Amino acid sequence: MALRIPDDLLPADGRFGSGPSKVPAGRLGALAATGVDLMGTSHRQAPVKHVVRRVVDGLTTLFSLPSGYEVAIGNGGSAAFWDLATFALVEQRSQHAVFGEFGAKFASASRNAPWLGEPTVLTAEAGGLAVPVAEDDVDVYAWTHNETSTGVVAPVVRPAGARAGQLVLVDATSAAGGLGVDIAETDVYYFAPQKSFASDGGLWLTTLSPAAIERAERIAASDRHVPAFFDLVGALKSTRLDQTYNTPAVATLFLMAEQLDWMLAQGGLDAMSARTAASAETVYGWAEKASYVAPFVPDPSHRSPVVATVELDASIDKVRLMDELRANGIVDLDAYRGVGANQLRIAMYPAVDPADVEALTRCVDWVVERL
Ligand SMILES: *Cc1c(COP(=O)(O)O)cnc(C)c1O
Repeated sequence: MALRIPDDLLPADGRFGSGPSKVPAGRLGALAATGVDLMGTSHRQAPVKHVVRRVVDGLTTLFSLPSGYEVAIGNGGSAAFWDLATFALVEQRSQHAVFGEFGAKFASASRNAPWLGEPTVLTAEAGGLAVPVAEDDVDVYAWTHNETSTGVVAPVVRPAGARAGQLVLVDATSAAGGLGVDIAETDVYYFAPQKSFASDGGLWLTTLSPAAIERAERIAASDRHVPAFFDLVGALKSTRLDQTYNTPAVATLFLMAEQLDWMLAQGGLDAMSARTAASAETVYGWAEKASYVAPFVPDPSHRSPVVATVELDASIDKVRLMDELRANGIVDLDAYRGVGANQLRIAMYPAVDPADVEALTRCVDWVVERL
């Protein structure tokens, strides 16, 4: 134990966790600099409402929201949004393309909702991709833009032959902000702040198409019981007023607003996806070349630019490797529970510097040589 990686090999910042993920160092200073004007003040007053507005406007610009699309924000994170969707968006029955744990969790939320019909679930093995296919009697198609558990990225396009009125719900929790997307291909593109938006957890955010808003309004007006916490129409109305239904984490919103400003100043979504693509080229190039490691996802076109999964040779003691890296300030390379045999998972969100990703691969090489 206690190998000391030479300083000139180390990344400037050793946080490569897939979520919560790296919050750039200066951001907490920016939060502190707001002093007593923000933290500890009412979320019904101008200073906090201004932060909510910065987030809504930032997302509207970042995603070039098509006309009629709106942003809604609520408490509970993406996992709460799955339950919300079963109450507020799925009318009778949904279809889920599942290729990892996060997609599977939404599918089971739908399956367990007694007021919904049995969902169609199309599945792929870990490391593979399942895509939605047109089906007559579903009213929602659901899949994950980036499966954070396996490092598989999916196309975001409406299924060929989908009927008008069938909604497309895309879980973009780790993809949003780090990957290009045409929001017009979705009705509901939802995410949380603690991944590509370099903030903290606890909130969900979503874009909504006019069709999604119409659906939510129709269900809200029906006799289905929708708990207030899962009331999407209520959340949208609050967001329009630069507020949330109940008290949000103000620091989380502030950090997200700062990340959005940074993303837009760098050139927006095109610049962010170029940045994550550069990191991905480094990681997958290294994993293809080094003798002791290989990409986990077999099809190169399915390999995620924001979360890379790589399999180490069985002879490598992964726990020891991660302990040594952690002792040198390189943290959170753990695979998602049960995925892969001897796997590392590396987040390459926009906040992660591509130069640090390169440094990480050098550090892993250096430690593996000495194990
Ligand atoms: C992290 C993650 C979630 C869960 O987000 P929470 O905010 O922790 O509920 C859901 N889906 C995907 C794709 C994720 O990466």
